[in-house]
Amino acid sequence: MGDCVFCDIVNGRIPSIRVYEDADFIALMDINPLTPGHLLIITRDHYGATLDVPDHILAKALPLAKKIAEAVLLGVGSPAFNILINNGPEAGQAVSHWHLHVVPRQNPQELPLPGGAPADLTKLPFTAAAIRENL
Ligand code: AMP
Ligand code: ZN
Repeated sequence: MGDCVFCDIVNGRIPSIRVYEDADFIALMDINPLTPGHLLIITRDHYGATLDVPDHILAKALPLAKKIAEAVLLGVGSPAFNILINNGPEAGQAVSHWHLHVVPRQNPQELPLPGGAPADLTKLPFTAAAIRENL
């Protein structure tokens, strides 16, 4: 990919601080960490978002995230973590090369997420039906 910052990282054209790499993935420190120890697992190959990634690669991603998260928690002394994948700019994906965030957490207040509003129970079954029809 011509102007992809993560392809540049994979190819060593721009520097990165790596903690792990294998044939499919690189894990590197996020340059704007949400919390100390925040890192990214990126694919070596360029895929835009989760729907573009082959299943055999995705199948390796969560076990790797688990392995990396265990090391992050021990390394930075955090008791908890978030795993986050943004898919599409509307969902906040700034870099359109697949990546998974591992964000170690000390407490729920450090990254406040808005809570959901109670569902309209007259509409919820129709939303579920619309999804079911597409499975
Ligand atoms: P997203 O919003 O899910 O696309 O997140 C992109 C992430 O990539 C952000 O957390 C950025 O801080 C991070 N990032 C962007 N450029 C670099 C870089 N050169 N090295 C490490 N992390 C980066
Ligand atoms: Zn790329």
